[in-house]
Amino acid sequence: MKRVLLLGGVAEALAIARTLGPEHIYSLAGVGRVPTDLTCQVRVGGYGGAEGLAQFIRDEGIDLLLDATHPYAAQISQNAAIAARVSGIACWALRRPAWQPQVGDDWRDVSGWAELIEALKPFRRPLFTLGREPLQHLHEIPPEQFWTLRALDVYPGNERCEVIGARGPFLIGDERELFERRQIDVLISKNSGSTATEPKLEVARERGVPVIVLQRPVLPEVDREFGSVNEILAALTQNL
Ligand code: NAP
Repeated sequence: MKRVLLLGGVAEALAIARTLGPEHIYSLAGVGRVPTDLTCQVRVGGYGGAEGLAQFIRDEGIDLLLDATHPYAAQISQNAAIAARVSGIACWALRRPAWQPQVGDDWRDVSGWAELIEALKPFRRPLFTLGREPLQHLHEIPPEQFWTLRALDVYPGNERCEVIGARGPFLIGDERELFERRQIDVLISKNSGSTATEPKLEVARERGVPVIVLQRPVLPEVDREFGSVNEILAALTQNL
């Protein structure tokens, strides 16, 4: 019987974890909710880099490493590819397809924070949907801007920034209301490719609001890449 270590933290990973038996392990960083109703084992917390992950793979007799982490969680994906290689096991990965701009979209790609701040200059009321990272930059908000930050949890803002704590999936009606109430004139987003967070893009399109898109990180090559949960489940059925 093969033993799988599934690296997760997104909805698709949880869907895969729900199909795994008790010999397999679902691994979470510990930043989000930990499910308590799974048949497989659940492990919470980091490994101490690629070396620590490789050690865990050897200690636990793991046969297959399955990276189903978020497309912007580049460090753990890099560690996974290295750890699998040095341990002599296969690494498979779920590589969620990116969103593509549609007719009517005004998307502006940026590669990092400095470019993002530059791209923000013409705007007054940005909505950030990047998670917690912008919290480090609250002191940089220019006097003419008011920021709305949406993160998983609520954090203190300041006189020019309000932080909203909310977890997807988000409904189009709620997103419309958010843009209207706060008079959002630019959206800042990762290109996560998730259907749970896609409605904000639709609202930006409807309202002619530009979207500043933080480019995806480059992820390592792995033995097999999959674009959907169903493809992974089919491959697991054949290989376990
Ligand atoms: P990251 O920068 O790639 O990873 C940072 C460190 O967190 C890793 O080096 C590892 O610690 C630990 N880690 C990450 N995922 C882990 C997992 N599934 N199991 C055990 N340890 C893990 O990741 P991140 O961007 O901070 O994201 C953290 C987690 O949140 C990921 O699992 C990701 O799937 C999820 N998530 C991320 C985003 C996002 O936008 N980045 C959005 C939604 C969910 P060690 O080096 O000590 O092993």
